[in-house]
Amino acid sequence: MTDKQKVILSIVAIIVAGGFVASFIFSPSDSEDFPDGGTWYKCTACKEMQNIDSEAKGDFYDANPNMIGRPMGCPKCKKGSLIDGLKCPVKGCFYTQAKQKSDGSPICPICNSDL
Ligand SMILES: [Zn+2]
Ligand SMILES: [Zn+2]
Repeated sequence: MTDKQKVILSIVAIIVAGGFVASFIFSPSDSEDFPDGGTWYKCTACKEMQNIDSEAKGDFYDANPNMIGRPMGCPKCKKGSLIDGLKCPVKGCFYTQAKQKSDGSPICPICNSDL
């Protein structure tokens, strides 16, 4: 192997390694789920709290194009519509907007736990 070949080889190795690292850094982590603070919905009719992912949401609007622009229908009771909100990481309460303490830090409006 000549010196020139060695140089070319090392450059190729750097490009390959760099590309691998870049794809590792920039690829969205699909497997990551949101145990808390993801998109939670609560049904207006059955009051069931449910975590809807964007795929399920897409499927719903594909099946019900007349509902586009309106809240998603509840997949459990098929009667109510879903209000989106957040899940309290402390006690699992459903809320649509966090309250704030006097120092500005967010608290759960249901159980008043620090978020
Ligand atoms: Zn429902
Ligand atoms: Zn709470």
